[in-house]
Amino acid sequence: MSKVDRRSFLRLGAMTGLASGLSVNGLATASVSAASPRSAGVQRYVRLGKTDLKVSDISFGSFPLRHGEEHVVHHAMDQGINYFDTAESYGDGTSEEVIGKALREGRRDKVYLATKIHAGARATASEMMSRLDASLRRLQTDYVDVFFNHAVNDLDRLKNEEWHRFADQARQQGKVRYLGMSGHGGYLVDCVDYAVDHDMFDVLLLAVNFGEDPAFYEMFTRSFDFVANQQGLPKMMAKAKEKDIGVIAMKVLRGAKLNDMRPYERDGHTYSQAAMKWILNHPHVDNLIVTMRNRDQIDEFLGASGTGAVSRYDAELLQQYAKMTESSYCRHVCNDCEGSCPYKVSIPDVLRMRMYALDYGDVSIAKHEYARLENNASPCLSCDGSPCRDACTYEVPIADLCGPTHQLLS
Ligand code: SF4
Ligand code: SF4
Repeated sequence: MSKVDRRSFLRLGAMTGLASGLSVNGLATASVSAASPRSAGVQRYVRLGKTDLKVSDISFGSFPLRHGEEHVVHHAMDQGINYFDTAESYGDGTSEEVIGKALREGRRDKVYLATKIHAGARATASEMMSRLDASLRRLQTDYVDVFFNHAVNDLDRLKNEEWHRFADQARQQGKVRYLGMSGHGGYLVDCVDYAVDHDMFDVLLLAVNFGEDPAFYEMFTRSFDFVANQQGLPKMMAKAKEKDIGVIAMKVLRGAKLNDMRPYERDGHTYSQAAMKWILNHPHVDNLIVTMRNRDQIDEFLGASGTGAVSRYDAELLQQYAKMTESSYCRHVCNDCEGSCPYKVSIPDVLRMRMYALDYGDVSIAKHEYARLENNASPCLSCDGSPCRDACTYEVPIADLCGPTHQLLS
C-alpha cells in the first residue's frame, strides 16, 4: 500500500474507530475490578522457546541502572523476577556492573542473565570474545544465559562469518548458553527472516507493542489490520515460533509517556499494565522485558503478571494512549521516511533518542547515545524542513522535533 493510501486509511481509522469509542470485537469485556492490581509478585513463568529457561513473564530491563541501585535488582528478585537483561552499552557497562554487584553474594544462580554487544559486519571473532569477556567481568560471572547480537538492522551483520566462529567458541567454552538477536530498526523484519531461515539464534528480542499488532486496530474498526506499521513483523514472529525460537517483547509501552496517562487510570489499574497484558496475550510472545527504575514501578508492572484476558477498560486505556501519541510517536520498526532527508539525518534514531530523553526521562543516557550517532540532526538547525515535511506516514512533524532534539542532546 502506498504511503498516501496508508495515511488516508489512518485518518479514516481515527474517525471511525479511535475517535468514536470502542466497538469491541472478540475482546473480553470484563469491567475493571475494585481491587488494586498491585503486585503479589510474579504470577507466571514461561519456557523461553527451545531453551530450558523458565522465565518470569515480566522481566527486568536495566537500561538506566546506575551505581547504588543494587536494591532495585534485589527488590525485583524478591518479587520473583528471574530474567535480567542488560548490555555492554547501557551506561557504558554501568548497568552490567550494578547487576554483577547485586548478584555477587549467592544470587547469581537464582537468575538468568542476558547481555548484548553490537557486533558489526566487520567485527572479528577475537574482538567479540574480548567484549564478551569484559561483560562477564563486569557481571562477575563465568557465563551468561543468553548473549545477544544487539540492535541488528543490517543483513551484513548477520552474514559476518566471524559471528558464527565466535558463537561456536563461546558456547564450547561455556561462556554462553544460548544465542539471541535483538532489534528495533526499520529492517528488523528482513533480519528476523534471514536469522530464522539460517537457524542462527535461540531467542529473539523484538520491539513490539499493541500498536504493532493488527488485532489492536481490528478491535476498533473490524478491518483496519493494515494500519499497524510493519505488517511483516507478526508473520516473522509466527515463523520464529514455528521453529520454537524464544520471542521476548521489548518497548511494549510504546514510548512510556506514563505520567500523561495518570488522569485516565482508575483504582490502581494503569496504562502500563494494560500495555503489558496486551503483549503477554500475543500468541507468539513468550515474555517481555521492561525498564524498571524503582520499587514502585516494579510493583506496578508486576500487577500485570500472570494476566488473563485484556479487559474493556484496558483497551480503553490503550486507545487513549494511541490517540494521545498518534502524531508524536516515531514507530519502532519503521523506516518509511528513509531517503527523505537530503542531509542523511538518521530520523528514526534521532527521534528514539528524543524518546529516551523526554518520555523515559533519561537525558544523560540519551545524550550519550546521541553522541554516537553518525548522522545526527545538526543539519536540521539550518534547514527549512521542507524535504521531510510529508515524509512520515503517521504525520510525525519530523522537522519540528529533530532540530530541538539536537539542541537538547548535543
Ligand atoms: S518519523 Fe514517521 S516514517 Fe519516520 S520512522 Fe518515525 S514513524 Fe516511521
Ligand atoms: S529538517 Fe531538514 S535536515 Fe532535518 S530531517 Fe528534515 S530534511 Fe533533514
